[in-house]
Amino acid sequence: MILSVAVKAKKNSTLISLMLLSSFSSAASSSSSTVSLKPSGRLQQTLAAPVEVNGKALHSGKLSTVKLLPAIAGAGRCFEFRSRSIPASIEFAQESPLCTTLLKDGLRIRTVEHLLSALEAKGVDNCKIRIESDSPDDREVEVPIFDGSAKEWVDAIEEAGINVAQNHGGETVEKMVAHVNKPVYVCKNDSFVAAFPALETRITCGIDFPQVPAIGCQWFAWKPEHDSSYAKDIAPCRTFCVYEEVEKMREAGLIKGGSLDNAIVCSAEHGWMNPPLRFDNETCRHKILDLIGDLSLVAQGGNGGFPVAHVVAFKAGHALHTELARHLTIG
Ligand SMILES: [Zn+2]
Repeated sequence: MILSVAVKAKKNSTLISLMLLSSFSSAASSSSSTVSLKPSGRLQQTLAAPVEVNGKALHSGKLSTVKLLPAIAGAGRCFEFRSRSIPASIEFAQESPLCTTLLKDGLRIRTVEHLLSALEAKGVDNCKIRIESDSPDDREVEVPIFDGSAKEWVDAIEEAGINVAQNHGGETVEKMVAHVNKPVYVCKNDSFVAAFPALETRITCGIDFPQVPAIGCQWFAWKPEHDSSYAKDIAPCRTFCVYEEVEKMREAGLIKGGSLDNAIVCSAEHGWMNPPLRFDNETCRHKILDLIGDLSLVAQGGNGGFPVAHVVAFKAGHALHTELARHLTIG
């Protein structure tokens, strides 16, 4: 779909063909000058032990089992479904409504963002994610939703423990991370996600629901102050939906597994239907959770995914997040 094409920075054929493929506007290209990989001063890590969890999927309503397994340095994060590998990489990300999906060789893994957010934020750089559907013939599987937050994943990672990873030769490997060298943004209508050069990682998110007064317009700025910041400030924040839109989503075949147990639901007329909220701005914080998960798809070979940058998002969703991730990917 072509809505508008507005190239505001250096034009090149790669960028123009990208623009023609999507309806997004953007500035800056994904050339190596936009981002550069630099040493993080930390070693690549992995899980200390396997851990298994299972639960119900939000959209399909089916049960699935996820086993997180240690992986060697350089392996990165990779799903394994029906004995096939699907790297958690932007290369395989597919636009899909209300979640982020990976697609490879006809196999599809949906709703990967909360799990990947927890792995990225906790520094699990290398991990095999073995996932099974309760229907063995399915070519599509969905990551369990739990309570709509990333808390269950953080708990599983902390239960397994985290170790420094070693490569095939038994050596440790320094983790590299992308630094944003110049502003880059993607936008659609009045929604945008931008990444600005910064000395440290910082995220600012805004949402605006004028038709739902209990949510309204919120902004929240956050940066990881210490190792437990994500677990405390972001991971417990649940996904949310507007009650009056639930029926439309059900008719579209979505949120078959949705209930008041796996999302916070807000009515335009009656306000929050399943209080209490875990934070006054839980909805805005959840957007940061999603953004970390989607930008984690930039990661390659056990290096960091979320860049060293100030990432600012307003009214953005998974499609814009992953579009920015494409611009931040090197090579
Ligand atoms: Zn989410």
